[in-house]
Formats: sequence, C-alpha cells, structure tokens
Amino acid sequence: MINESRLVQTFLELVAIDSPVGHEEAMGAELMARFAALDGQVVRDEHGNVIARWPNGQGDWLMLSAHMDTAGADVGIKPRIRDGVIYSDGATILGGDDKSGVAIILETIRSLQEQGLAHPPLEAVISVSEEVGLHGARLLDKSKLRARRGYVLDAGGPIGTIVNSAPSQDALRVTVFGKKAHAGSEPERGVNAIRIASEAIAAMPLGRIDFETTANIGVIEGGTATNIVPDEVRIRGEARSRNNDKLAAQTVAMVAAFQDAAERHGGRVEMKLQRSYNAYKLAEDAPVIAAAMAAARKLGFEPILHASGGGADANIFAEAGIQCAVISTGMAEVHTPQEHIAIADMVNSARWLAELIARG
Ligand SMILES: [Zn+2]
Repeated sequence: MINESRLVQTFLELVAIDSPVGHEEAMGAELMARFAALDGQVVRDEHGNVIARWPNGQGDWLMLSAHMDTAGADVGIKPRIRDGVIYSDGATILGGDDKSGVAIILETIRSLQEQGLAHPPLEAVISVSEEVGLHGARLLDKSKLRARRGYVLDAGGPIGTIVNSAPSQDALRVTVFGKKAHAGSEPERGVNAIRIASEAIAAMPLGRIDFETTANIGVIEGGTATNIVPDEVRIRGEARSRNNDKLAAQTVAMVAAFQDAAERHGGRVEMKLQRSYNAYKLAEDAPVIAAAMAAARKLGFEPILHASGGGADANIFAEAGIQCAVISTGMAEVHTPQEHIAIADMVNSARWLAELIARG
C-alpha cells in the first residue's frame, strides 16, 4: 500500500533541498542515502547522476527514472498545502518537476518492500541537469545500464497520461558581429549588430509553426552603451519538431534569417548548431506503452496517449535502445510560481507505478 503521508513527507523534504540545474550536489547525496536505506546498490557517476539497483527479482531489469534538478534558478522553495494540493509560497516554482517523480519512486519501492511483493530487478536512474537539454542523461554512460525498458516519471496531465512521442530539438547559439563607431559623431562608420539581430529575429518564423513544430528565441544580450554603435550581440534559441524534416527546414530558416540580415548591413554571424536530442515515437503496442495503458485501466484511470512538445530523458534513453514510457505524476503548471500538485494525484501515480512494477 502506498503510504500517503509518508509520500507527502518525502516530497516536502526533497522540495526543501535546493537543486537548480548545476547545483544538485546536496540533492544527489540525499538520494544516495535514501536509496541505500532501501538496500539499493547505489552509485553516483562523475556527472552527478545517481543510479540505484535492486538486482534480486524475476525477469528483465526495469528502469524507474526521474530527474533531481529543478528548472531555472529558484531556491528556498517553501511548499504550502491548501485543500489537498501542494503549492509553493508563490515566490518560486514548486519543483514538483521532477521531485514528484523522485518521491514517487522512493515511496513505491519502499511500499513494495514492506509488503514483500515480487518484482523484477529494478534500476532507479535519477539524472541531473535535465532541464537544460537533457544534459545529465546524455552524459550518463548508458552502456552500464542493465534495463532495456522503463518508466520515466516526468509528465503532467491527469493520472493515466502517457507520453509516447516527443520531438527532436536543435539548439542555436548565434553571435552577430557589426562594427563599433561613435553613435553621435560618425554613426555611418558603424554596423549595428543589434539592428541585424532585430531584423533577423523579426523575419524568422517563431512560436508555434505547426502541430508538431515550435521555435523560440529565448536569450539576447549585447551592446555596451547608448552612444556606441554595438558590434556584438549574442542570441540563443531553439527549434523542436516531432518530424525531423520539418525541424531541419525550421532550423535552416532561422539560420538564413541571420545570414540575410547580416549581409544586408555588412555584418557577419557565427553560429553553433547542436542537436540536443532526437525524437522518438512508441506505438500503442510497444510493451511499455501497452503495460502503462493496461495498468492505468486496471486502476480506473483513462489512458491518455500524449505527443509531447518537449523532450525528456526518455529521448536520450530511446537513442540508447532503452524504451521508456513517460508517465504523469500529476505535476501542473510547472516552471511557474503557480506550479502545484494534488496529493491524490501523486498517490495515484505511485499506485500506477506499483502496478507497473508488479507486472514485471
Ligand atoms: Zn521535468
């Protein structure tokens, strides 16, 4: 039986440990201790990812995964419970993305041990730096993982929501170079890098491109003073699509917009393009998807297959030949100060996970 108050307590304790991307040290140490207390064989790789194994059991290894980092730079998170729902105090995110997943994995393993239930060999993989392009999972040495299938607890939506498809993402880093000049006495000798960047960004397709393709310019910085024609602007953006041909076309359009604008004004651009992760799509009859649907139905939850607009560690695991379904923990409005999670949803997600583990 999933112990509701213990699950909530675990979640609140994890939320109280700051772990924004790149600062997961304390959280990693805490998780190692918690998994060790559950008799897990725990290792932490050189990147900070924590892996715990319970090799005893029948059948094939099963992975349970979540990420320990939280989005942005928020620290000092103060959870508040109102009417069965856990919120932050409104000043920060809650960090239920993805500490709800971590807490659910801990509680589910503990409860199945208490009941002495049979289970397959289990491998818990808790990654770092998921929120900045699945960094921890990418660096993790997947060849050392035992499981070839698993469940990633890192989605929102009603319990029963299963992400079976997610996009590829390209990351774009652009530096626009112009030419410095005094803005008052000889502006005609300058080439304004901010102007080039502005025209490029205004000209390119952004936002929702179609049902499976999106693009964003998220960071722009440059210039030094109002009386100097700026000679350098740095821009970071991204494009995503569940269709790789569409992604290629979108990325090319963004690159071309920068090149065209630079050419028009006599500036130049340097660009770094990187595929952050690749798309995956699992059919309804893929074993992890079929099991997740059947287990949801058995518990009375309507299975909802969802094509995500965002990547998850499951994208990286899929590239390494590990099939994962991403399932809902009940987290809602993540990455905002309104983020919250209903206690009932978190409990039901744990019950769902327990049912999935029981299926072997
Ligand atoms: Zn997440």
